Amino acid sequence: MSEHQIGTKCVQGGYVPGNGEPRQIPIIQSTTFKYATSEDMGKLFDLEASGYFYTRLQNPTNDHVAAKICALEGGTAAMLTSSGQAANFYAIFNIANCGDHVVASSTIYGGTYNLFHVTMRKMGIDFTFVSPDCAPEELDAAFRPNTKAVFGETIANPALTVLDIEKFAKAAHAHGVPLIVDNTFATPVNCRPFQWGCDIVTHSTTKYMDGHGAGVGGCIVDSGNFDWMAHADQFPGLTTPDDSYHGITYAEKFGQAGAFITKCTAQLMRDFGSIQSPQNAFLLNLGLESLHVRMPRHCENALAVARYLKAHPKIGFVTYPGLEGDKYHDLAQKYMPQGTCGVVSFGFKGGRTAAETFMKHLKLAAIETHVADARTCTLHPASATHRQMNDQELESAGITPDLVRFSCGLEDAADLIADIQQALEQV
Ligand SMILES: *Cc1c(COP(=O)(O)O)cnc(C)c1O
Repeated sequence: MSEHQIGTKCVQGGYVPGNGEPRQIPIIQSTTFKYATSEDMGKLFDLEASGYFYTRLQNPTNDHVAAKICALEGGTAAMLTSSGQAANFYAIFNIANCGDHVVASSTIYGGTYNLFHVTMRKMGIDFTFVSPDCAPEELDAAFRPNTKAVFGETIANPALTVLDIEKFAKAAHAHGVPLIVDNTFATPVNCRPFQWGCDIVTHSTTKYMDGHGAGVGGCIVDSGNFDWMAHADQFPGLTTPDDSYHGITYAEKFGQAGAFITKCTAQLMRDFGSIQSPQNAFLLNLGLESLHVRMPRHCENALAVARYLKAHPKIGFVTYPGLEGDKYHDLAQKYMPQGTCGVVSFGFKGGRTAAETFMKHLKLAAIETHVADARTCTLHPASATHRQMNDQELESAGITPDLVRFSCGLEDAADLIADIQQALEQV
């Protein structure tokens, strides 16, 4: 598949049926798998043979879909998780332990911020948040001897900042650690972070990849580019024997291409079990089959909405990296010249009250804690996803009290604009 274009990979990647086998990916609705001998099964438990034994760790349906996302990103190995939250947790926890430290962009998704800032801190992992726009020296100064990774979002949800992937990759590599990028909003159709030096990509597949509001899910993809052995002291989990698998050293046994995902499956999936259900993986694959057709329409609608809002007298600001004159337009042009995402943020001259009134009068656009759906949906983050944050934290996350996040679906742009227009008349 690697020689094919992105659209062909969306449709056909990850699963190649043999003669007489099902054309569509079969849903393997089975918790367990049968073996002829205990020796056969023993080999699986020793990671000496690849195969399936229990769906808490791995399932063939999931692996076909993960292989498709792996092909889309241009990676070497991938795994599905039950949610985007699980994907980001696993991606970090696979290489950072109690006592370690991670550098993260401050404008990340609120759920990820909570995971890092509150929950993972309780596990003894410390985080330093830096502005995605920080100068290279400032980024450099955030590192400590115990730093194990750098994390950011291609396009941040909902701040819509664009990550300067090359800048972050350069800093990470100068300190001998990988860059992990959450590529949920851009999707591999619009941006492939591995081409810019990113080492590991994560996704909330709940968003554009599923695209129809049908299933919560996540994915982790490894580029295979990070040389764990060259930084063996930093990453003992990958470069020293794992006693729970008869002393296997992941980076030796599975090489640079497979070590990260194998360890993540063998240890974290085994112990935490945040597996995606095969049913959901099947639905996710249906979404992936049209991802390359849907993304341009999401972007087209968002650009039309952003241009309309920009010209409206009641609107204080519009943030959309695809919009001419946007602070991140140049970075977006560099990293995702074909389009960014379908999400537009904007604020009101009338402040928080105007935002609340506007939301109340929308008819087509539904108020939801969701984005990146076929149906247009909208949210007022200060009263929903980000309500745990104080004003200062909101500001550093790039969110003001009047900000509305508007996720353009696949409807006709004229109808979306008409809906916005009638709601604005009430403000
Ligand atoms: C939604 C989202 C997540 C969390 O994903 P879930 O599937 O809801 O767990 C993580 N990162 C980004 C950028 C998101 O938009």
